[in-house]
Amino acid sequence: MRCLGGIVEATAVPPKHRLGELLHLVSGGRVLGPFGTAPAANSGETMADPIQQIYAKRELELRKKLKKYKAPPPYQFHASGLAKCKTALYYWSAGYIPAMEDPKSTGYSDDGDMHHDQVRNKLKEAGIKVSGVSFNRDGTVKENTSKVMRVKYKDVEFTVSMRLDGFIRVSLKKHVLEIKSIGFWKNKPLAELWEKTGSEAALLAYIQEKRPDIMFQTHACMLGTKVPRTYLLFKDRDGCAIGLHREGGIIGGPIIHFDPAVWEQACQRIATVVRHLRLQSPPPPEFIPSSYECKLCKFRHLCHDADRRRKNDIKPALWHPQLGGKLHVGDK
Ligand code: SF4
Repeated sequence: MRCLGGIVEATAVPPKHRLGELLHLVSGGRVLGPFGTAPAANSGETMADPIQQIYAKRELELRKKLKKYKAPPPYQFHASGLAKCKTALYYWSAGYIPAMEDPKSTGYSDDGDMHHDQVRNKLKEAGIKVSGVSFNRDGTVKENTSKVMRVKYKDVEFTVSMRLDGFIRVSLKKHVLEIKSIGFWKNKPLAELWEKTGSEAALLAYIQEKRPDIMFQTHACMLGTKVPRTYLLFKDRDGCAIGLHREGGIIGGPIIHFDPAVWEQACQRIATVVRHLRLQSPPPPEFIPSSYECKLCKFRHLCHDADRRRKNDIKPALWHPQLGGKLHVGDK
């Protein structure tokens, strides 16, 4: 990469490595921060690259956020997190402090919000009413429907909080609107399945097996709003298509109907977490260290990494990646 009178000219670098290389090059070999960003933002050094400045600023914001971290209300879970690892849910709900988010990953939710807003604006432009939201003049959409639902299941009680993407009428019936903006790899099997079968039932079976997060979230929202059907709208982040397309047909749905058996599965998971919270003892790790879930987990330092430190006799075994010995909101 060369700097030409303030214009940064990047040479071809494989996309996977581009940012890391970029930051390395602009850092001029200086020691980088824990996530690859240079420490220059708060040290007064002049930084050469605008992208480096974006991530350095993000890292500072994340560090501030981490210091102000607050535990969630007791026994309260998010609808969108009901399928998460039970061990991670235990640590989160028990007030342990998650590791700081990688600044590079923070764009994912911003990007998701934009796709949600874009889809709802497209629906509005097509004359389809989306209720439960307000359309702002700047193109953003405000979600006005949030709920906290109390759940009693066998010997446990917990609450589930939710914020809805809105409501939509399909065939004159009110549906919960759930928008899922998904990248290439998540969209591909859905699009291919629809292309091959054209079957909404096959699509739903796939979602039920592979995406319990979607099923549990939609079921919580259907129960919380007493609207027993969901219009599930996929937005392809890479191909930009709304819904799944097929030669000779377009599907915007599918439609998910409330199924007590699915909700039972969600309740079983959360009941296990609640019982462990009462015992003040985490459930065993739900996934293996090399799994996708564990690689992205913000409680790994309390779980597999603590095990590794114990095995290698590194003391203390429990160590927060950014806060050192402060692991729980109650720690000084
Ligand atoms: S490291 Fe893996 S098993 Fe442990 S809490 Fe995180 S996701 Fe669960």
